[in-house]
Amino acid sequence: MMECLFCKIVAGEIPAARVYEDEHAIAFRDIDPKAPVHVLIIPRPHIASIADLPDSLAGPMLRAIQAVAVEAGVAESFRVVTNHGAEAGQSVFHLHFHLLGGRRMAWPPG
Ligand code: AMP
Repeated sequence: MMECLFCKIVAGEIPAARVYEDEHAIAFRDIDPKAPVHVLIIPRPHIASIADLPDSLAGPMLRAIQAVAVEAGVAESFRVVTNHGAEAGQSVFHLHFHLLGGRRMAWPPG
């Protein structure tokens, strides 16, 4: 899936502001941040969305999100969002969790 933007970031072919990595996941700052902290946590393998997330990666992805929240200094309060499908707002079809923090969040999201 080397035509995938986020696969290219995993491979280091496209630069990104990485803030975390482990054997399963990497995390980098969103290029168009919607909050003072806006980090994307993605699996290393190409997985199109949360609908295809295997059991073997579900726990590691959540652990990575927890670790990024601590490292980003927002462990007290943060929001995690993942969009599945264009109708829900997905624009990059490599699974990513948005970690948003550093400001008050509104509900419901748009
Ligand atoms: P979504 O619309 O849920 O698929 O989210 C895709 C996110 O990827 C958006 O918030 C974009 O700003 C972000 N994005 C796109 N290209 C890059 C990039 N090269 N580096 C970092 N973030 C990106």
